[in-house]
Amino acid sequence: MFYNSTRNSSVKVSSAEAITQGISAEGGLFVPDSIPTLTNDEIKALGEMKYADRAAYIFAKYLTDFTEAEIHYCTDNAYSTKNFETESIAEMAHLFDGTYMLELWHGPTCAFKDMALQILPYFLTTSAKKINLDKKIVILVATSGDTGKAALEGFRDVEGTSILVFYPEDGVSPMQKRQMKTQEGANVGVCAIKGNFDDCQNGVKAIFTDSEVKDRLAANGMMFSSANSINWGRLVPQVVYYVSAYAELVKDGEIALGDKINIVVPTGNFGNILAAYYAKHMGIPVNKLICASNINNVLTDFINTGVYDRNRRFYTTVSPSMDILISSNLERLLYLMTGRDDKLISEWFGKLASEGRYEVSDAVKAKLADEFYGGFCDDEQTKATIHDIYEKYSYTCDTHTAVAVKVYNDYKAATGDTTKTVIASTASPYKFSAAVLEALEGGKSDIDEYAKVDRIAELSDIPVPAALADLKNKPERFSDVIDKAEQKQYVLGRLGI
Ligand SMILES: *Cc1c(COP(=O)(O)O)cnc(C)c1O
Repeated sequence: MFYNSTRNSSVKVSSAEAITQGISAEGGLFVPDSIPTLTNDEIKALGEMKYADRAAYIFAKYLTDFTEAEIHYCTDNAYSTKNFETESIAEMAHLFDGTYMLELWHGPTCAFKDMALQILPYFLTTSAKKINLDKKIVILVATSGDTGKAALEGFRDVEGTSILVFYPEDGVSPMQKRQMKTQEGANVGVCAIKGNFDDCQNGVKAIFTDSEVKDRLAANGMMFSSANSINWGRLVPQVVYYVSAYAELVKDGEIALGDKINIVVPTGNFGNILAAYYAKHMGIPVNKLICASNINNVLTDFINTGVYDRNRRFYTTVSPSMDILISSNLERLLYLMTGRDDKLISEWFGKLASEGRYEVSDAVKAKLADEFYGGFCDDEQTKATIHDIYEKYSYTCDTHTAVAVKVYNDYKAATGDTTKTVIASTASPYKFSAAVLEALEGGKSDIDEYAKVDRIAELSDIPVPAALADLKNKPERFSDVIDKAEQKQYVLGRLGI
């Protein structure tokens, strides 16, 4: 299998090259040249395997240049109880009749990004070795909170790599900020930007494609790679847990092989839901992909009208990892939906860069309407949903997951659809303790973050994750705050080149 660029279909590279490069030279994203399929027999067999083996099985279909031993080296290191607090890795909680919470937050940073970022460093270092790169890999990350910490944990002290993370100064939760500022490791750096997530991401993208910076790196034996969800090595691990969830539901007798399910995903950069789309097109029977947004509802409008328009107010919400107005991975979906039309994609994403807006063709609009449902809710509805679920099912969920539940409830009310449904639960409730506690108790309390964690532990039956329990006692290592215009200089300075 080879990988093409969404902005130039004649680009043709191996998975090892796609993973080390992160983004294609002309700015497009790498996509596999076809989507491999799974037969019913294979899906059934996957149900009998442990998570790491399910992952290896699926990776073998995408990373065809990796040997079996290389793939197992990656999966065995990433998906073990050394890094995850549950044996199942991705734990399925039965919430209520026909609804399953796919808990993707039992990894070291308590958010679903761990599912991909625990394995990406192994993919990257293995890929670099395969293509005889003896350069130091420099990882730049723009984060709305969870990616940054998960990438730092994944890469810390991994030989031959160095990682630098940028986050919006006022766009992450106090807990997320503290997690990043206290990061351990000799090869890590963390810096706040005076701006929002899109400022961070645009800055990182610009530095990636800056030829002066690239030349300086090359002259110093270094090269950039990306740990953001634009890297294919981030996306393919996410496909695994949707396949895995389906195989498990079949194995447990919750559904029959071939039955359709809905998948609901609280969405920001469109990576997680794109992985569900790939799982569907591999052969997992999916009825609707339900895309849930917070009040930054650019994707809801897009799914409903075919017009993507980022010229709108940006809101800071209680689900900050979804406070995004440019969803990068949408480019991959549209590339597939236009029949791999690189010209059209270049035109649309050129317009997005210059005017902040583009409109897709009627054919794509019809496909969007057929495969997706888009909905959104505001902070009050998010908190009310956390409260409701707690009251009804004694289940505590985080703010992002609550957005998904609310949009799913709206979908059910609007359509009457009773198809069994998997909801991606993307973070531990402890990670967003202020909003979660306010929702549970029905009012704000002025105790500190750590006391809030303790209070949630009293109310819910979910134990406090070890990584968060330790946080109070860790020394702060990083306190830089810069203007977005200074980002490039900062990177060069930190790398000492
Ligand atoms: C990153 C994140 C999301 C959004 O996922 P995308 O892949 O960017 O759409 C949702 N919830 C949480 C908790 C996250 O960390």
